[in-house]
Amino acid sequence: MNNIHILSSDITTLHCDAIVNAANRSLLGGGGVDGAIHRAAGPELLEDCRGLHGCRTGEAKITKGYRLPAKFVIHTVGPVYSGAPGDAVLLADCYRNSLDLARENGVRTIAFPAISTGVYGYPVREATKIAVDTVHKWLADNSDYPMDVTFCCFDERTRKVYEEQTARI
Ligand code: ADP
Repeated sequence: MNNIHILSSDITTLHCDAIVNAANRSLLGGGGVDGAIHRAAGPELLEDCRGLHGCRTGEAKITKGYRLPAKFVIHTVGPVYSGAPGDAVLLADCYRNSLDLARENGVRTIAFPAISTGVYGYPVREATKIAVDTVHKWLADNSDYPMDVTFCCFDERTRKVYEEQTARI
């Protein structure tokens, strides 16, 4: 699909309308991609996040991007991997709710990290299949709205898995 792209990069450097943060339920910063986004965006992001009063797993909230090249940050909370069937539902919710919120805010270009595959322990191949299928379905359901989606991988191994999974669709 020509409006899905795969990149090996640091998501904080991307010049797109919105980047997605794999946040935790407090929305007050953490490690991994969350820490990198807060460091790059500056303290105004944390101030803004304080006013959001957290976020439930699978849901998404939006802030400005502050010192980031991206105009917005969409904060979503992935599931901590447990092996239960509910994990996949919540992970798919993250992608769908982030895209819905992006559309409501006029976003045309959005980049996702590999949500839940770091500290939250989701196996990369399973998580990637859910990411690719959910985004693909959202784009088909929203074909009246031009949206460009980038999967931003932090390492080559993850990028290869995304390449494999997007080749299926
Ligand atoms: P989670 O808690 O949802 O598992 P992590 O931040 O621990 O979130 O990891 C999610 C993914 O983000 C992992 O694949 C990790 O390698 C990747 N990641 C970490 N830092 C960055 C970054 N600066 N840009 C893009 N991806 C990143």
